[in-house]
Amino acid sequence: MVFLAGRPRDSVGHVLTSIKNKSVIVTGGTKGIGKGTAGVFAQLGARVCVLGRSEADGAATVEALRRHGSTAIFCRGDVKEQGDMDEVMATVAAEFGGVDILCANAGIFPSAKLEEMSESAWDDVFATNLKGMLFSIKAALPHLKKSAAGRIVLTSSITGPLTGYPGWSHYGATKAGMLGFMRTAAVELARFKITINAVLPGNVLTEGVSHLGQAYIQTMAAAIPLKRLGTVEEIGHAVAFLASEEAGFITGQTLVVDGGQTLPESRIV
Ligand code: NAP
Repeated sequence: MVFLAGRPRDSVGHVLTSIKNKSVIVTGGTKGIGKGTAGVFAQLGARVCVLGRSEADGAATVEALRRHGSTAIFCRGDVKEQGDMDEVMATVAAEFGGVDILCANAGIFPSAKLEEMSESAWDDVFATNLKGMLFSIKAALPHLKKSAAGRIVLTSSITGPLTGYPGWSHYGATKAGMLGFMRTAAVELARFKITINAVLPGNVLTEGVSHLGQAYIQTMAAAIPLKRLGTVEEIGHAVAFLASEEAGFITGQTLVVDGGQTLPESRIV
């Protein structure tokens, strides 16, 4: 687990204190942004369930969290399966006494240019990124409704809602679709006092992004005014804010976390 850069562990306890003892599920918590987000919640004193398909990655993540004294469990599940999601949410509710916060983060970003886009490539990305989001939310809802401050935070992206990148038309469509879903969901869920918001990360150094290669990473870093990719914890902090009681009057909104990548009007000098 990586801690806040340059800040002693104790000081973390003085921000977003409402997160303490909350029961949190992070889909796609076994790697990358989800793993970083799980670490931030754990540091803030939450009880955290990391959800993913890989037993080995899940066990390693939970072990790291527990080593720092946090309450953490791994639940194996595929977001594409409603049955898996129902089972995991019930397990977490039983283990932690409820579910307060769902971070719907699991996602995939395989590349396919338009001319070679197969129906199965399109379906795979939609099944994980959009249907998986829906299945996790549907499964969490009965539990979130019982929470005094139910929260859903989606991991969308700048790609789709704000920008485009060759090979990611299907991916961008799902990430923009998440926001369309969110705005109606926010209205529907308000009567249960549940908020739903989205973070839009720019380029963040994760296991998934490292597979895109060094050339991609260098090109992206050069395109970001802050001249570096984001860290997984920097996304986690934005997620934790939207999940906090301090953010209780914010719903249906987006928070871009991209080091300024979407701002320049011309090539950065
Ligand atoms: P990553 O390093 O590849 O990790 C993806 C995570 O999703 C893993 O924990 C994986 O767990 C899980 N996952 C994938 N398919 C799943 C499924 N069917 N069921 C359950 N879990 C599944 O990716 P990342 O870069 O952290 O991306 C995480 C999210 O952030 C995605 O939604 C992505 O679109 C978004 N995002 C990333 C960036 C970036 O620059 N990294 C930028 C914008 C948005 P298992 O392998 O254990 O199943």
